Amino acid sequence: MAGKNVVLFGPPGAGKGTQAAKLVELLAVPHISTGDMFRYHIKNQTDLGKTAQSYSSKGELVPDDVTIAMVKERLSQDDVKEGFLLDGFPRSVPQAEALDTILDELNLSLDHVINIAVSDDEIRGRLSKRASIEGRADDADPAVIQNRIDTYKNQSEPCLNYYRPKGVVRDIDGIGTIDEVFERIGAVFS
Ligand code: AMP
Repeated sequence: MAGKNVVLFGPPGAGKGTQAAKLVELLAVPHISTGDMFRYHIKNQTDLGKTAQSYSSKGELVPDDVTIAMVKERLSQDDVKEGFLLDGFPRSVPQAEALDTILDELNLSLDHVINIAVSDDEIRGRLSKRASIEGRADDADPAVIQNRIDTYKNQSEPCLNYYRPKGVVRDIDGIGTIDEVFERIGAVFS
């Protein structure tokens, strides 16, 4: 238990966004979703949005330097002092390393990396379902879905090996109803 400095981690389609919305209520901390931040910029066609779109539309990660600068700026704001929920960041080992540096500079540390685990087949099914419901461009095309899964495996999953020796990873079974999964996550903080 103790701290509320949290990373929510897991493959695309693991239910991170849904669980994040519930968890920020429980913990009363700001929700920092890099995916939401990029979508905001894409919608408003800012320079950052145009850059982000050229990667996210293909299921690729936005380059680390761009993403890290955006998160650094957000974590420098005062409302994170009592805790924060990072959703979708870090997604590469360089991002995880950069996060450590940023938190060090702010005199903060990470308490929990909540790893929502689901199988590849389950991910594929969930992402194509989400494409028809939400109309998210990056969920619509099977090739893009495959690319997002591959990107997760190659670039994001290695973050777990980075964090495991630090003793902060909490493995959560992501199969079940939204409430069942949330109960497992909530237990981390009880
Ligand atoms: P999400 O909603 O978290 O699945 O993010 C949607 C898209 O935004 C991803 O497929 C990436 O293109 C981009 N994105 C979100 N978070 C990151 C990150 N930490 N690093 C790089 N790209 C990201």
